[in-house]
Amino acid sequence: MMVVFLGPPGAGKGTQAARLAAKYGLPQISTGDMLREAVGAGTELGGRVKAIMASGDLVSDEVMLELVEDRLAKPDCSGGAILDGYPRTRGQAATLDPLTERLGLGEVKLVLSLDVPEEEVVNRISGRRQESAAMGERDDDKQEVVVERMRVYRELTEPLVDYYRDRSVLRQVDGVGTIDEVFGRLDEAMREAVQQ
Ligand code: AMP
Repeated sequence: MMVVFLGPPGAGKGTQAARLAAKYGLPQISTGDMLREAVGAGTELGGRVKAIMASGDLVSDEVMLELVEDRLAKPDCSGGAILDGYPRTRGQAATLDPLTERLGLGEVKLVLSLDVPEEEVVNRISGRRQESAAMGERDDDKQEVVVERMRVYRELTEPLVDYYRDRSVLRQVDGVGTIDEVFGRLDEAMREAVQQ
């Protein structure tokens, strides 16, 4: 089953996607983590995306499609996957269903939109910034970059909520609460989708 996570930066997508992936035995595909790994490993891709990521902007749809296609073609994705951070633009969403169909994975069946008010995500990210500064991670949690990432989210990614609502696969989930509370809500949506 193909599942997509939507939500602003700092909504808790990564944490929750990892838990759902473990529970349902599906791989979690985090495009942000894949790109950070490429940057860390100093690959050719890493070199191309480093500055874009540091500024809070998006890597091009073409580069992302290639990356996601390679990953979804791997055998561990044969039962589907949980996409965390992809798609992020209308262009990415438009090419996703044809891709997953072609790979025999079926269309996206469930889109979990984690709803968290902007004020709350800004607070959460500044908490994460303090932690990661101590560990030397995530340059893109800097204040000005966070502002840009939020702008990019609102402009390019948020319209996907309507896109997937129109396709009747959207479940909006309240992302405010403890990690366990939010997980409970997501798990319920997941269980229903599995049963369908
Ligand atoms: P994330 O960890 O998901 O917030 O991603 C970190 C950064 O990686 C983003 O700010 C983008 O620069 C880049 N990135 C991750 N996923 C995508 C995507 N689907 N499309 C374009 N850029 C992406």
